[in-house]
Amino acid sequence: MGSTDVDIVVAGAGAAGLAAAISGADAGASVLLLEAQDTFRSGSNTAMSTSMIPAGGSRWQRKAGIEDSPDLLYGDIMAKTKGKADPVVARALADVSPRLVEWLADECGVPLELVTDFRYPGNSRQRHHCVPDRSGRTLLRHLLEAASSRSEITLVVPSRLTDVEEADGGLRATAARPDGSEDVILARSVILATNGFGANGEMVRRHIPEIANGLYHGGDGSRGDALLIGGRLGGDTSSLGAYQGHGSVASPHGVLLTWTTMMNGGLLVDSSGARFQNETIGYSESAVNVLAQPGGIAWAIFDRHVHKKAEPFADYQDLLGMDAVKWADDVNALAKIIGCDLEDLERTLDSARRAALGDEADHLGRTDWAHSIESPFAAVKVTGALFHTQGGLKVDKTGAVLRSGSPIPGLFAAGGAAVGISGDSSYGYVSGNGLLSALGLGFLAGSAAASRVGH
Ligand SMILES: Cc1cc2nc3c(=O)[nH]c(=O)nc-3n(C[C@H](O)[C@H](O)[C@H](O)COP(=O)(O)OP(=O)(O)OC[C@H]3O[C@@H](n4cnc5c(N)ncnc54)[C@H](O)[C@@H]3O)c2cc1C
Repeated sequence: MGSTDVDIVVAGAGAAGLAAAISGADAGASVLLLEAQDTFRSGSNTAMSTSMIPAGGSRWQRKAGIEDSPDLLYGDIMAKTKGKADPVVARALADVSPRLVEWLADECGVPLELVTDFRYPGNSRQRHHCVPDRSGRTLLRHLLEAASSRSEITLVVPSRLTDVEEADGGLRATAARPDGSEDVILARSVILATNGFGANGEMVRRHIPEIANGLYHGGDGSRGDALLIGGRLGGDTSSLGAYQGHGSVASPHGVLLTWTTMMNGGLLVDSSGARFQNETIGYSESAVNVLAQPGGIAWAIFDRHVHKKAEPFADYQDLLGMDAVKWADDVNALAKIIGCDLEDLERTLDSARRAALGDEADHLGRTDWAHSIESPFAAVKVTGALFHTQGGLKVDKTGAVLRSGSPIPGLFAAGGAAVGISGDSSYGYVSGNGLLSALGLGFLAGSAAASRVGH
């Protein structure tokens, strides 16, 4: 390609990069979209996700009679993070959320629907929008189709952004091909959408030691490139200890067991058959709790009713295909699957049943049971995992990267590359924070970058 002039270089073709590229292109800018991994269509975080995108006050919610608003969404984000979410970014994302999901459906052709069969922890309203098969691969495919239908966008795969320098009239981006050749591109703006540093073991150990021994269940491409590139330009960073963990990844299959199993009455027990946490506290902060159990594993237990609730998830179908969901006709058979003492397990199930029916207070403080599970029981062996990191480059409400508090001209970050809205640890992650940060900041950064070239 040699030396090329484009309006915007976007690095990373996940949710953040594609939203940025499409919104930049629709505002009239030319966009060069670089993607480092050949495998990104199935291997990026976006592809691995369940496509849940929260919005406060969308037309789908109105149609379903659900009263919601950006203020309520913002309030939930702040409550879950105990006030530690970046208030500027959280406000911008909550405000843009209803417009974002409508833009995804109307301008990008993403077939969104509202999830009304359960509510994720930390959300006071049913507000998750997803594609029908609840698969990130499907979401990504629709975004890629939308990008490829825009002549302003050129996608180059594989090409890895390795550096950005300030140059006269813009930014000089350097990208490497697998054969070692390099492209140097002069652009008015560069949008870093390379996700976080979950796949970079050294960075995880440095910034988030508590999850360093957990399974990493995220995209291979998340090597922390944005932090390195932005850091060289003096970009501010924030909340590097924040992450999305998950307390129910099937082991050894490495496939997500949806938390809807817990929210609908499922239990988590250790290898002795004892419960160890309130299962509705949130899947992210549950990761370290599961890892703290003997062998770093636990068993998710549920029943046919819960199984029906999980069936719409593509990941759950994968688990069924792998025979990861073990069925037991009674407690005796369940104890054999888990390898624990029958009486201990009976005690656990009896006490959970009494709490679920309101006959006694739960000793772990669970109050939201939805349903008391009954035989036959299903059991899935699970472990705790790191899905993605939520800290990153500090940005303003348009995604502009800040240096000592002021924007670096032309440099933007979105998604896992930027600071998220999950506070500074695992407990602040509310389901959907990842894709909302990716799609929302991408959408905002793309149009802000286009406006720098007068479009
Ligand atoms: C199992 C699972 C389920 C999840 N479910 C949900 C959910 O339902 N809702 C939700 O909100 N969040 C969910 N998440 C989190 C969500 O997937 C991420 O927060 C989101 O996808 C991040 O988007 P992104 O565009 O920043 O990163 P990605 O989708 O990972 O895209 C980044 C891309 O950048 C590429 N790249 C990296 N470095 C470079 C470089 N230097 N140059 C060029 N390209 C580069 C990578 O190869 C990758 O393709 C889930 C995560 C997992 C693992």
